[in-house]
Amino acid sequence: MCKYKLPESLANDIDELEASINKYKKGEMNSDELKARRVPFGVYEQRESDTYMIRIRCAAGFVTPEQLEKVIELSSQYCMDKIHLTTRQELQIHYVKLDDIVTIIRELSKAGLASRGGGGNTIRNILAPEDAGINPEERFDVSPYAIALTSRLIAENDSWTLPRKFKIAFSGSDKDKGYATISDLGFIAQIKAGQKGFRVYAAGGLGTKSRTSNLLLDFIPEKEVYNIAKTLKNLFWKHGNRKNKYAARLRFLWEKLGEKEFRNKFAEEYETVKKENYSPLEVNSFSNTSIEATFQTVKIEDKRDFELWRKRFVNSQKQRDLYSINIPVELGFIKNEKALELVNSIKPFGNNVIRITKDQNFLIRNISERYLTNFYDFLKTNQENFNRPFIYDKIISCTGASTCQLGICFSRGAAKAIIHKLSESNIALDNLYNLKINISGCPNACGQHPVADLGFFGKAGRVDGKLYPVYNIVAGAVVSESETRLAEKLGEISARDLPEFLTDFLKTYLDKAAKYKNFREYILSEGKSDVEFISGKYKNVPHFKEDKNYY
Ligand code: SF4
Repeated sequence: MCKYKLPESLANDIDELEASINKYKKGEMNSDELKARRVPFGVYEQRESDTYMIRIRCAAGFVTPEQLEKVIELSSQYCMDKIHLTTRQELQIHYVKLDDIVTIIRELSKAGLASRGGGGNTIRNILAPEDAGINPEERFDVSPYAIALTSRLIAENDSWTLPRKFKIAFSGSDKDKGYATISDLGFIAQIKAGQKGFRVYAAGGLGTKSRTSNLLLDFIPEKEVYNIAKTLKNLFWKHGNRKNKYAARLRFLWEKLGEKEFRNKFAEEYETVKKENYSPLEVNSFSNTSIEATFQTVKIEDKRDFELWRKRFVNSQKQRDLYSINIPVELGFIKNEKALELVNSIKPFGNNVIRITKDQNFLIRNISERYLTNFYDFLKTNQENFNRPFIYDKIISCTGASTCQLGICFSRGAAKAIIHKLSESNIALDNLYNLKINISGCPNACGQHPVADLGFFGKAGRVDGKLYPVYNIVAGAVVSESETRLAEKLGEISARDLPEFLTDFLKTYLDKAAKYKNFREYILSEGKSDVEFISGKYKNVPHFKEDKNYY
């Protein structure tokens, strides 16, 4: 089985975390000192006092049904009634008490899961497309590389003491579905003279100052993946800015040194790393085959609804007669009991079935056609909104001001208001299947608005000195190897009017969509002026005395 390996030092590291928590409880360590130890363990404090969130590493978005079951069990026992799927393909559990943190982390490690590196200045969860290994367009399956690199890097102490977070991603084709071209380090699969390898990108990332990555190396053989990652990590460790966290990510080092000097330093470090003779990654491939479950197939009465569901959520794999199924999870939150029912329905299909997607849903793979009706039937019975247009559940929002201390706007509330408004509209939402709508509560981009087709990020507006929440409107991003572009700012809209604006704008777009190859082409042509015109209708925000709902 292709799972990441927990480092041998993990048990000891957990003991040290426990000792720190005990010291803190006795008043022998202050909260900042504890924070410096718990955050690299993926443990973040929530706004509510003595409650914490734990972020669990799932390299390439892969978890086994048993691992997911364990997380759900821990969430039910110690946390809240839901688990959360993140845009970095991880699992999160919330409302953990300080006293339960170590117990949970130890239980996770028994299931082969680590929260180490879930936060702080560390090597974060390594991404791969959720359909890696089953996508007919990919060059080869990159997820085993993401997992093997995870095993290696999380065993190295210097992975926890970097100047800032370090994000790595793999993609299997030029479509860059893993976001290699917007990461600190990105690998895109290539095949040269029959040899597997990667094109390497570096120094990109999202934040207040987002950047697309730079092409670092045109081709490296697959055996060099570890050396390249090690080299870039060393370079960052040695030269990254440790004084100003707002200018610390690798992209700022690229800017500070300049391309030529960055490349020189990289080349020097690469020579040093090569002399160390590290062994290449141990890459174990996934087997994407079907497991024939022992139960009967279900007969469906409402064939039209089944076909609609199939069109919306089911895709053919490159493996003959096998299918993947998107399981929508609104804003990435799924109730423990619903998640458990899902796990139980999946278990008969083996270990290689679940991936967490970057748009915070589940993708189930390796299902024979004969069992599609079983899944349809199961979802119809057990999951709310199982067959509504997928765009509802592809909307991405960061946590926003409700729990994030940096938040300006309540982005998750905005996403819910948008979902509600869309559900009342008569827009042909299935025609917007591929549209990415992303919302961040502030310019920090945790909701990934810079890579949105249509994105929003929060700021404060002012009428007569009174502050009110506003969103900047951005649009037109593309993530694809040869043409990755970030979204461009086109206007602004009050938080109150955002759902109305969005529905107006989507209607306008759909009326014109047939003229354009894609949404970006529309934005570059008429879309910009449409955003300006439609947002302009809402530009007069009433005074506080006239309407408090805006404030
Ligand atoms: S984008 Fe801003 S509000 Fe949203 S989670 Fe990040 S820091 Fe918080």
